Amino acid sequence: MSKALKQEKALVVFSGGQDSTTCLFYAKQHFKDVELVTFEYGQRHAKEIEVAKAIAQEQGLKHHILDMSLLSQLSPNALTSPDMEIDSTDDIPNTFVPARNLLFLSFAGALAYQINAKHIITGVCETDFSGYPDCRDQFIKSMNVTMSLAMDRDFVIHTPLMWLDKKETWALSDELGVLDYIRNKTLTCYNGVVADGCGTCPACQLRQRGLEQYLEEKGARTL
Ligand SMILES: [Zn+2]
Repeated sequence: MSKALKQEKALVVFSGGQDSTTCLFYAKQHFKDVELVTFEYGQRHAKEIEVAKAIAQEQGLKHHILDMSLLSQLSPNALTSPDMEIDSTDDIPNTFVPARNLLFLSFAGALAYQINAKHIITGVCETDFSGYPDCRDQFIKSMNVTMSLAMDRDFVIHTPLMWLDKKETWALSDELGVLDYIRNKTLTCYNGVVADGCGTCPACQLRQRGLEQYLEEKGARTL
């Protein structure tokens, strides 16, 4: 990236999970000023917010937490209703809140405007089979145009993980020198277990499989 870019400010959409924490370190490497935004919307585990806060504090980054609890009005689902089971067999998981990412990015954009951040970084990804249409590259490009028009600013939305699978996301964190940090400090698990997690939920399985694949390939290279 150019030197000029480094002088600018970036806002990272941050949940305290593996993907967005990788984005946090990506942002720190590429931008002079980095701030974080976390959306609170009745997550199954308030622990997610605690984990996000702890990482933000440890990294010395300004952390905005926005209350999005109104989302629970839109969809009774596994993430916001503790009594529902998470079903990973459907094409679109039942953790789906319609247009959630559209809403989050809109709020991130309004915040970015206020704090004078040109760059917005989000860990959305087309390759993790989550099936969320508002996480696809085409939507992000459209959103970038829409936000810039809505606020008459030249925003740039960065999606460093868009075309990476979980193995490649681990590889990126290793390149950034933070693989162990991300492995030990982040929360991806649906059951609220930090680091390697419960090991059985779909999120843990995806994360673990990617890590094993990456470490195996890395081991093979260094033999
Ligand atoms: Zn788990």
